[in-house]
Amino acid sequence: MNTLHNAVWLYLGSEARNGEEIAAFVDWCGRNRVGKALVHLSLGGSADESTERRIAALAEACEGKGIELHGMVSTLHRRLNDKNKLPFADPACYCVDAHGISNYEEPICGHGYVLDPRHPDVVRTVSEQCAELLRRYPGLSGIHLDFIRYYHYESKLTIDTKSAGHWIGLPKAGQSIRLETQDGVRTTYFIEEARNRYNDPPVGDKLVLSRSYRYCFCDDCLAGFETFSGIAMPASLPDTAAKAGWLLGEHPAEWAEYRAGIVTDLVGSIRAAIRRERPDAQLSAAIWYNAPYGNELRGEPLRPESEFECFGQKWWEWVRRGYVDFVCPMDYWLKPGSFGGVVDGQIRKTENRVPVYAGLLKTPEYEIDKAGYEEYARRAAAGGAAGICFFHYGSWKQLL
Ligand SMILES: [Zn+2]
Repeated sequence: MNTLHNAVWLYLGSEARNGEEIAAFVDWCGRNRVGKALVHLSLGGSADESTERRIAALAEACEGKGIELHGMVSTLHRRLNDKNKLPFADPACYCVDAHGISNYEEPICGHGYVLDPRHPDVVRTVSEQCAELLRRYPGLSGIHLDFIRYYHYESKLTIDTKSAGHWIGLPKAGQSIRLETQDGVRTTYFIEEARNRYNDPPVGDKLVLSRSYRYCFCDDCLAGFETFSGIAMPASLPDTAAKAGWLLGEHPAEWAEYRAGIVTDLVGSIRAAIRRERPDAQLSAAIWYNAPYGNELRGEPLRPESEFECFGQKWWEWVRRGYVDFVCPMDYWLKPGSFGGVVDGQIRKTENRVPVYAGLLKTPEYEIDKAGYEEYARRAAAGGAAGICFFHYGSWKQLL
């Protein structure tokens, strides 16, 4: 029935605000063979009539052109400035990093809250909220999971301390140091190296600060790992940081499997919840090709399966178990050649069980022209992708 072959992410901020913009959007989809529109919606919260009317109008216009509309949600990440509006009051629902710092206490950049995908309340509530979206917006064909993963980043600051003066005597390796910006956002770092050339006169060299945003090392996740793997952590490990260091050093493979299994189970729970709500509802996911992504921009090599190891996205297992109906890998910031290689690998991993829409990003920072787009589209088709997933309508509508 649906013979169109591309997909697109749509953000409602400045798009599809009225009948005219909705008509322009579906025309654009028709011109660019877009058969799946993935519209960003919030999980939880109360229904608001204007969004309901807008989605209903969008769904009706899409249906008239044979375009499926899917609700895209930020599954495990919430961006909030007001802690009182958090979806869970219990700090145990938020991840704890490899240093033992709770994301509830120190959200990423002051506003990024990452939910613990193992916590039973998170699993139940997120699954129910996905089903609730289908009730609230009956025009949706399914749910598209964005941020279905652990947050992960190895943050490093290298500071030139040559002219830092007598302050160079202060930082000591192993200590923590807190950086606070004017708006009151505090970020804890750990001093990896404090190298000086002279104490007198004070001539520093460099100060290296690091912070390992690896999740989740809360007590419940650590206990769950012991049950899952049958591996007991030595009782001598004094704190979370020591336990995390031991796990990552001694049992990285088992730890990666455990975490990925937690995310896979959450995908399965969401799948079950939306199918209970509506048996023909589809589930799909946005997935990464590398962790951290954007490696080519930093001149770093692609690390195969790093999305599994670091983000906990063993997404081919979601495919194998029939949890997802299609996937949209976010193959961004890659030159056409490497994009093609990444798509090839992703198609192999799906074993042709579900369609793959290769995500292609165009922004003012990373521009792609018409000829460039055609080259990417050729590579995606050659690799066996069903089509391109445009990120996002607002940035592509000017070009195509
Ligand atoms: Zn945890």
